[in-house]
Amino acid sequence: MTTLEQQALEYHAAGQRGKVAIQVTKPVGSQTDLSLAYSPGVAAPCMEINRQPSKAYEYTAKGNLVGVITNGTAVLGLGDIGALAGKPVMEGKAVLFKKFAGIDAFDIEIDETDPDKLVEIIAALHPTFGGINLEDIKAPECFYVERRLRERLSIPVFHDDQHGTAIVVGAGLLNALELTGRDISLAKVVCSGAGAAAMACLDMIVDLGVRRENVYVCDSRGVLTTARTLSEEKRAWAQDTAAATLSEVIGMADVFLGLSGPGLLSQDDVRKMAARPIVFALANPEPELRPELVREAAPDAIIATGRSDYPNQINNALCFPYLFRAALDSGARGINQEMKRACVQALAALARGADGFGPGAIVPGLLDKRLLGGVTPRIAAAAWDSGVASRQLDPAAYRLQLEA
Ligand code: NAP
Ligand code: MG
Repeated sequence: MTTLEQQALEYHAAGQRGKVAIQVTKPVGSQTDLSLAYSPGVAAPCMEINRQPSKAYEYTAKGNLVGVITNGTAVLGLGDIGALAGKPVMEGKAVLFKKFAGIDAFDIEIDETDPDKLVEIIAALHPTFGGINLEDIKAPECFYVERRLRERLSIPVFHDDQHGTAIVVGAGLLNALELTGRDISLAKVVCSGAGAAAMACLDMIVDLGVRRENVYVCDSRGVLTTARTLSEEKRAWAQDTAAATLSEVIGMADVFLGLSGPGLLSQDDVRKMAARPIVFALANPEPELRPELVREAAPDAIIATGRSDYPNQINNALCFPYLFRAALDSGARGINQEMKRACVQALAALARGADGFGPGAIVPGLLDKRLLGGVTPRIAAAAWDSGVASRQLDPAAYRLQLEA
């Protein structure tokens, strides 16, 4: 066991076990307090909510409470380790929600792999929450589960492994393209991986201006081509080409997007790319090619990974706390494309506005104090402008409130 692993075990077991606990937010010192907090007084808010369900946002914690929900089938890079073993990750997610955006989160680990049953269970749980963060559910089931829940529920449902990744990749890509003087509509992109994260990232970069015909995607069996029998999600990226392998399509690519597995990109591949290549090798914990090896093959490459020990860490925690903060505060029924795009633009702008902006700082740092106030109001404004919000927030006043 490494020192870090040993430290992590001690960290989790020290003092009160785990990483989260419940906090009481009202006085409960007297008999009167207790009769308000619980029976008989509590019946009054119950009946108000019974008459008008939206009152739950006034009389309960619902409006600041997110469910972090998993079935443990794709936990981190660890794979299908099961619901219970995923609990430390989900508690960790709750910690990030609280630390970065003041949002309370319950971690919910559900022992169910059947996608229809999972949808039923989560739908049945939804009254508890103001929003649902689906987490670490494997592809392709994650696409179905999220789509069905979004159709059924009128609270935000967001699969972070897909869309959180896509937003941060989008922000980093916009800045990398700008730094290398590229026009997004001309950029050639080669993506290794066609799973949950890759599919969402590709949708996002096309939304941002990459042309679909300039995108080549590889899965474990090679290039997605029109000659292959593919799932519906993958078929959308099939190219009519005789090329079969990553090495055959990477020539003169401007961007490599790796959301696959360790060691799948070679230095020769990097040498075939266009000058000043953009290499996002995001497989965790071991990237498609280590940054020092990318650098050796292309000294002027812009490189990002998912790791905290290299520059340009693509980390979803740069976006999900602020997306949910904005969605909850604006009373948004969902997190739509306009909100995600606003988040991309705001993150990219924050990075550009930082002192160290350049090839080694294309996204903000996770602990950048400007994130909450800089990103959240822009997402809330997009929610209102796109018609999914029930409250219009004044951006300047809201920003001050967030930064207080
Ligand atoms: P996933 O849904 O399991 O997808 C993995 C994809 O990689 C699949 O499409 C798979 O192909 C493909 N693949 C496997 N072997 C390959 C090979 N030899 N060549 C090309 N493609 C290959 O997993 P995911 O959630 O999308 O995550 C993928 C990777 O990205 C993981 O390493 C994850 O840690 C990382 N990730 C990083 C971040 C971040 O940095 N912030 C965020 C999300 C994910 P098939 O479709 O043929 O099985
Ligand atoms: Mg995850």
